[in-house]
Amino acid sequence: MNPINKHNTHIVMPFEYHQPATVRAAVEILRKHPGAKPLAGGTDLVPKMKQRLLEPKHVVNLKKIPELSVVEDRGDAVYIGAAVRLREIEKSETIRRRLPLLSSCVRSIGSVQIRNMGTLGGNVCNASPAADGALGLVALEATVHIAGPGGERQVEAKSFFEGPGLTVLGEDELVTGFTVPVPTEDTGTCFISVGRTALDISTISIAVALTMDGDRVKDAKVVLGSVAPTPIRLADAEKQLKGKTLTEKLVEDTAMKVSESIKPITDIRGTAEYRREASRGMAVEAITKAWREGRTQR
Ligand SMILES: Cc1cc2nc3c(=O)[nH]c(=O)nc-3n(C[C@H](O)[C@H](O)[C@H](O)COP(=O)(O)OP(=O)(O)OC[C@H]3O[C@@H](n4cnc5c(N)ncnc54)[C@H](O)[C@@H]3O)c2cc1C
Repeated sequence: MNPINKHNTHIVMPFEYHQPATVRAAVEILRKHPGAKPLAGGTDLVPKMKQRLLEPKHVVNLKKIPELSVVEDRGDAVYIGAAVRLREIEKSETIRRRLPLLSSCVRSIGSVQIRNMGTLGGNVCNASPAADGALGLVALEATVHIAGPGGERQVEAKSFFEGPGLTVLGEDELVTGFTVPVPTEDTGTCFISVGRTALDISTISIAVALTMDGDRVKDAKVVLGSVAPTPIRLADAEKQLKGKTLTEKLVEDTAMKVSESIKPITDIRGTAEYRREASRGMAVEAITKAWREGRTQR
């Protein structure tokens, strides 16, 4: 093989393409071919193959498996199949009404073209610390459904991620879908992300869910993206809010705690100092919006 041409836009490595019709068949292919890669929308996988960051010998298309493309309102939760396209989630009236936080996280992913191809399963399995869909699932305490040769298992979304590009998934396992609990009606939510350009992935992002009793916070979830190797819940900030009557001072103090509790890095998207400073302002805005929404929903 010639020296690697990073600018080559063609996938030059040969690979075998599989199109199973069932989860069981897909898992069997992964089991038989260690190193095989599931393909959903391909918006992450294909660029990596083009740049030869990944050179799988077997690629397993998940889009022909009907059960992976289901969205179901199950009353106290919504089930979303792993291969449901982001654009379908964005346009779903059920998700907009029942899970507005996830809806706004998904709307902020890339462009319409990316969302037309990309899936929620791909967003999560790619395990970028900046994955917007992942942030929403962690804030909503979703369950990740996993299928493997030994059967099925479930993992809390917050425990699914182990580092950038790393998850609890074994090589022969697939994510089949997500059960996302519907927040109670007195819950207000807000997602904000900041990027260098509209299409760039987040430099920093925050998702907040506040369950309110008037101005008293019954429950709080504060999750940040792009400030740690995985999306992180900030337990100290949540504790500071829970059980308290919200005031502007409490919002300011909690935002300060958010800024103090994160340990961001400097990378091409932003400096650690910028992220720390931005997190404070974003926390004020997100907590305030969630507070107003939670108060008026009752
Ligand atoms: C221009 C551009 C802009 C982008 N902007 C954003 C952004 O703003 N926010 C953001 O979060 N992301 C962004 N992304 C990243 C990407 O588009 C999303 O993460 C998308 O949701 C990935 O989904 P996919 O279906 O295309 O994944 P794929 O590329 O098909 O798969 C991604 C990875 O997950 C694995 N995988 C996929 N599905 C499964 C499954 N069910 N079980 C196990 N493994 C699986 C694949 O093997 C692969 O390793 C952007 C990408 C591009 C190219």
